[in-house]
Amino acid sequence: MSVGPGPNPIDAPGTEEEEWRAWDGLRELPALDMTAWRDVVVIAAHPDDEVLGAGGLMALLADQGVRLRLVAVTDGEASHPHLPGQEVAARRIAESAAALKHIGEVETIRLGLPDSGVREEELRGLLPELVDGFDVCLAPWAKDVHRDHEAAGRAASACGLEVWQFPIWTWHWARPADPRLPWDRAVRVPLPPAVADRKQAAIDCFTSQFEEPEPILPPGILAHFARPQEVLFRDARA
Ligand SMILES: [Zn+2]
Repeated sequence: MSVGPGPNPIDAPGTEEEEWRAWDGLRELPALDMTAWRDVVVIAAHPDDEVLGAGGLMALLADQGVRLRLVAVTDGEASHPHLPGQEVAARRIAESAAALKHIGEVETIRLGLPDSGVREEELRGLLPELVDGFDVCLAPWAKDVHRDHEAAGRAASACGLEVWQFPIWTWHWARPADPRLPWDRAVRVPLPPAVADRKQAAIDCFTSQFEEPEPILPPGILAHFARPQEVLFRDARA
């Protein structure tokens, strides 16, 4: 996920997954109806966003015969600043490829934009060609607080497709019933046990993000993505 520099809510202690699971509001969201979806583009700011935020939904869509294209915006080279960026990128690209094998058939297009430096305008300019022929776009939530996620979400909003956005860091910094989140535009995607297992197997591929002493995805954060449902926000422009 690559945390940017400077103090922000991502660095502060966050909400425990138990609190989210204890809140009826998540279970009471309407279920997403994706039965009419045929061609879906998934935008990931970093190699792992797609699986953390929408890996279960992608598996369900793959099983439904939907054509899936992943637009990988960065290669995640900034997650380990003490290591050579190229080395980190190569590892993370391989992790993403291994993870997607658990999800299903996904075409991946890598843009190689700078990790922690994604510019909305540049991505917005690239997207029309990349989403041509697709009907739905999934992207990180434009208010996820991580700047690359937000740039990707805002660029997706302008791509002209039906857009749904998935929160990632939000589960850490937000709280149940949090008024900063657009619950009136939220849907849930329940994950059957076999699909949840595939998502977990995919998450387990991102080993670079779990390494001690300072894992980027410590167990407390990972617990949010082991939840047997995903949540997406319908884009405000849709
Ligand atoms: Zn990320």
